[in-house]
Amino acid sequence: MGIAENVKRILAEIPDYVELEAAAKTRTASEIEEAIRAGVKIIGENYISEFKKVYPGVKLQAKWHFIGSTRKQKHDLLRKKILSSIDMIETVDSFEIAQEIDKKCANIPKVMPILIEINSAREPQKDGVYPDEAIECIKAISELKWVKVIGLMTMGPNVSNPEEIRPYFSLVHGIFEQIKKENIPGVEMRYLSMGMTDSYKIAIEEGANLIRIGSAIFGPRACSIKQ
Ligand SMILES: *Cc1c(COP(=O)(O)O)cnc(C)c1O
Repeated sequence: MGIAENVKRILAEIPDYVELEAAAKTRTASEIEEAIRAGVKIIGENYISEFKKVYPGVKLQAKWHFIGSTRKQKHDLLRKKILSSIDMIETVDSFEIAQEIDKKCANIPKVMPILIEINSAREPQKDGVYPDEAIECIKAISELKWVKVIGLMTMGPNVSNPEEIRPYFSLVHGIFEQIKKENIPGVEMRYLSMGMTDSYKIAIEEGANLIRIGSAIFGPRACSIKQ
């Protein structure tokens, strides 16, 4: 099946309140445009180097989200030109990185919408705030003027059976609701970004309203690139 058919099939099967983001790593500008033409409104990029390559070639209107490692790509991400073009950073996982984004965005000037990435399985090698540190981290970030927390994102652990990821999605949904109740000034819990090709149905059942889909839209990746 082609990209357009894939997008239309996914849009038809997900509830209206769920937003579909095309995870575009390794894809070309014309593949991305095909997805946008079929109804995708958000493009997710993992690598600033790839973003710089495809962004100028995509002439159709879309929102661009950064979904890669802010820690590993800090240097490239924190450029004025990049921050000006990106509409949301989904992978903020420390006060320090939020503070650096804040400082750069003040110079643009622009308020950057951000999601806080949760390391839901507490995997030491992975990015993300540990679940029990989320509230404290968000309270600190809420004091910054040029970033605005509008939700949470999680990847979840790599599992062989997608069903095994459900408890992690459920955990992050719990944090999402808990933070909503805290009513932290300046913080909105609008987006819960979780679910990929193998897990988006489970993610939606567990409260996701933003799903990040790569291979189910574009087909299998030629080589497997992990973030
Ligand atoms: C690659 C990627 C996705 C999508 O993965 P698929 O399994 O191809 O749907 C979603 N989120 C992030 C952060 C990714 O890197």
